[in-house]
Amino acid sequence: MKPKSRIVNIPVYQPGKPIEEVKRELGLDKVIKLASNENPYGSAPSVQQAIVDELSQLYLYPDGGAVELTAELAQHLGVQSNQIIFGCGSDEIISLTARAFLEPGDETIMADQTFSVYKSNAEIEGAEVVEVPLVDGTHDLHAMIAAVSEDTKIVWVCNPNNPTGTFVPENELISFMDRVPEHVLVVLDEAYYEYVVAEQYPQSVKLLDRYPNLLILRTFSKIYGLAALRIGYGIGNAAVVKLVNQVREPFNTSRIAQAAARQAIRDQQFVDDCRSKNREGMDVLLGEFDRLGLPYFPSETNFIMVDTKHNAMDIFQGMLRRGVIIRAGHQKYPTYIRVTIGTPEENEAFIRALEETLQEQTANV
Ligand code: PMP
Repeated sequence: MKPKSRIVNIPVYQPGKPIEEVKRELGLDKVIKLASNENPYGSAPSVQQAIVDELSQLYLYPDGGAVELTAELAQHLGVQSNQIIFGCGSDEIISLTARAFLEPGDETIMADQTFSVYKSNAEIEGAEVVEVPLVDGTHDLHAMIAAVSEDTKIVWVCNPNNPTGTFVPENELISFMDRVPEHVLVVLDEAYYEYVVAEQYPQSVKLLDRYPNLLILRTFSKIYGLAALRIGYGIGNAAVVKLVNQVREPFNTSRIAQAAARQAIRDQQFVDDCRSKNREGMDVLLGEFDRLGLPYFPSETNFIMVDTKHNAMDIFQGMLRRGVIIRAGHQKYPTYIRVTIGTPEENEAFIRALEETLQEQTANV
C-alpha cells in the first residue's frame, strides 16, 4: 500500500490517559484525571434530561444543517444563522478549515507551543507550518505578523492558549487584525472562552463586522461539560462559513448532541456556577504552587501550567503511580506540567500527590 507521502510521519494525537486504563495497569481503585481540561462538575441536569428526551428519535438522521440549534445560538450570540457552522467538536472545524483553505505550497502560522491539532491538519493538507515562539507563554502577535508572507493562508491564535492558559488582550488583537492582510484568514480558537474573567479579554464576536477574515472557534466540550457528545462551532463572516460548509460531511453532528447543545445554551446559570467554582479551585491551586515555590503561567482557563523544576515526564510518572493523571511532554517546556482544575477534593488529592512526587524526585537527585 502507498499512503499519501505527507501523512506518513504525522503523529497520532495522544489524548490524556483514560482513567480505566490507569486503574487496570496500576491496580488502583481510585484514579483522578486532570489531564484533558474537562469540566469536573459534569453537565447541567437539564441538559441530561434533554438527552433522555431525544432517545425516542434515534432512528432519524440528524438535521444536517443543525437549523434550530444554529438559530438559537445565533440569537444567543447576536449574529446571523449563516455566520455559524457546527462540527464534531471544534476539532472538526479546525480540520474542515484546513481542508477548505490549505493546499501544498501554502504557509500557515501558529505558536510554537499551542493546540497540536492545527499543525497536524495543516500538514495533512501539505501546507508549510511556520511556528512563532511564545514569549512568556503568550502569543507574540508582532512576530506572527512579521512572519506573514504572500503564501500565508491561515494564522491560528489560540486564545486563551492551550497549554499555557495565557491570553492576548483585545487591544493587541485589534492592532494585529488591523495589520493582517485581507488574503489571510485568522482562526481565533476560544475553546475556553466561558472560563475567562479578565476584562481585557477580547469580545471577539463584536469584531466580526470589522474583520471579514476572522473565524472564531468555540465548543460545548469544556465549560458545558459535553466533551463526549462531540459538538463545537465556528462563528465568522457568512462567506467564510459557506466555504467551510462546502467541505463538511452531511451529518457531522448527532441528534443527541444538537438537543443537548440547545438546552445547554438556555442554561447559562450552570455556566456561571462552573466559572466561579473554577476560580475558587484556581485560587487554591495557585496558593499551593506559591507555597511550594513553583512558578506558573497566569491562566484564564480551567487548567494551569506549572513549572515543577524537575523533568516533567518523571513527575508525570510519579503522579500516575499515585493515581493522578496530568499532562507533561510539552517540547518547549520540559519541566512544566499542565493540570486541569478539579473539584476541591480532586485538587487536594493532586497537591498531596504532587508534594510526595516532588519530595521523591528531590531525594533521587
Ligand atoms: N481547541 C483547544 C484549544 C482545545 O484545547 C480543544 C480541546 N482539547 C479543542 C480545540 C477541541 O475541542 P473539541 O473538539 O472537544 O471541541
